[in-house]
Formats: sequence, C-alpha cells, structure tokens
Amino acid sequence: KLQGKRALVTGSTSGIGLAVAKALASEGASIMLNGFGDADEIEAIRAEIEELADAPALHDGADLSDPEQIDAMVGRCTSELGSPHILVNNAGIQHVAPVAEFPVDKWDAIMAVNLSAVFHTTRLCLPAMRQKGFGRIINIASAHSLVASPNKSAYVAAKHGVAGFSKTVALEAATDDVTVNCISPGYVWTPLVEAQIPDTMKARDMTRDEVMNDVLLKAQPTKRFVTVEEVASLAVYLSGDDAKSITGANLSMDGGWTAQ
Ligand code: NAD
Repeated sequence: KLQGKRALVTGSTSGIGLAVAKALASEGASIMLNGFGDADEIEAIRAEIEELADAPALHDGADLSDPEQIDAMVGRCTSELGSPHILVNNAGIQHVAPVAEFPVDKWDAIMAVNLSAVFHTTRLCLPAMRQKGFGRIINIASAHSLVASPNKSAYVAAKHGVAGFSKTVALEAATDDVTVNCISPGYVWTPLVEAQIPDTMKARDMTRDEVMNDVLLKAQPTKRFVTVEEVASLAVYLSGDDAKSITGANLSMDGGWTAQ
C-alpha cells in the first residue's frame, strides 16, 4: 500500500517508533530510522526493516535536542533516500518530579526533544511534501496532550504544545494534500513507561505494583496497556490515501482515559 513512499520516523530504535517503522515498512515504505542504541542492535533493526519493506532503510543517529543535527538528518534523508512523504514525530523523553523541584536541565531537554524537534522536522520536511502534493505528518502525542497528571509538568506542557502545533500546521497545509494529526495513546507498555516506575515509586512512596495499578492503569478504564502494534496500525491508516480528509485531529487511543 505504501510502495514508493518514504518515511522518516524519529525515535524508532525502540518502543512505539520501532513498531511504527516496522508497520510502515511492511506496507512497502522505505524508512529513515532515528534514535539511540547499541550500534549492532541498530544495524540488526535496519536490516530487518529493509527486508520487511523490500526497499532501502537507513539509520541516522541525530540527537533531536540539537536543531543542527535535525537539519543534517533531514538533509541526509533527502539526498540518500529521497525527501519523506511521511514524517512520524515519535521521539520523546520523560522525567517525573514535582514542579518546584523539577530539574531545569530536564525541563529544557523535554522541551527540546518532545516539542521543538517536532517544529524543526516539520519546517524542514513540509516544503518538499507540498511540492510532491502528498504529505503525512503524524505526531505521537499522548493522553497528556489533553489532560494532566501530577509531577509531569514538562511532559504535559510539551505534549499540549505538540497538539496545538499540529492543529496550526494542519490549517496551514490544508490545501496542499498534507495532513497533520496527533495520535494520543494512553499508557503503552514500552521501555519509556518501565523507566519511569522507579521515579514514581520514589515521588509517591509506592511499591512497583501500586505504581502499576494505582497510578498507571488507574486512569485507563480498560485496565490494560495499549500495545505498540495498535499505535502502529493507526499510523499506517493515517499514512494512506483513505485518511486524506483526516487532518488537525488528535486521535485518542487510551482505553477510555480521556472520556472520563
Ligand atoms: P521509548 O523510550 O521506548 O523510545 C523512545 C525513542 O526515542 C528511542 O528510540 C530513543 O532512542 C529515542 N530518543 C530519545 N531521545 C532522543 C533524542 N534526543 N534524539 C533522538 N532520539 C531520541 O519510548 P516510547 O514509549 O516508545 O515513546 C515514544 C513516543 O510515544 C514518545 O513521544 C512518548 O512521549 C509517546 N507516548 C508514549 C506512551 C507510553 O505509554 N509509552 C504513551 C503516550 C505517548
């Protein structure tokens, strides 16, 4: 379905981004991967994705907190793969702490990776999408783009920012056959969620089980984690022709969380 399409997926060496990259590749898209990790593991991922797509896959290790590295990554994608038809802004980081004690460097890093990087990739990829008359910008936001939880001020602020940014660009690109949407998952079982359990245990003086059931899944009426494959499947749908009238939407996939 996506043969001949090229997709840049940020933060695609792990979790949701990896699942999205695999799903787009399975539909035939060539992929520019991005994200950190062990070089051998990344090469194994790249080779697997190339095989799934039967089309080239590359990896660029750009640190998305640095606009110059983002510029170089988009440039490399354009020269080595071709300018992307599909941009999935997925890379994201988290830090959990009360606002008065929130480390300033963590605030700055979360803003840079979770919000400013979305601006940079978008401004760099949009002109070529307009020229091609086809573009799909898919921003992996969060239920936290719609509602808040305590101790996540930077993340919630950045994700609300992504939601507003997406709506704005959707309007600017509305007549260019470029759609811009957010997918807003609730809790998805990935390394990002696993990594915040110890901090939440400390911040709330809770055991691991209490954090899982009373904090994480407390807000999620379905009482189960969303899977990365579910998110990837929606990203594939949004990338296709059938989704051309969906733009400026913030699509919740949160087990009913934000219905409450
Ligand atoms: P993850 O930690 O499993 O993966 C994050 C990816 O981003 C990795 O590939 C990592 O290398 C990359 N990354 C991190 N910092 C980077 C940087 N500075 N430059 C380049 N790459 C960087 O996380 P995940 O759970 O798969 O989350 C992916 C996205 O989904 C994030 O934006 C997150 O906020 C969002 N999200 C996750 C959940 C969840 O429950 N897991 C829920 C809602 C939204």
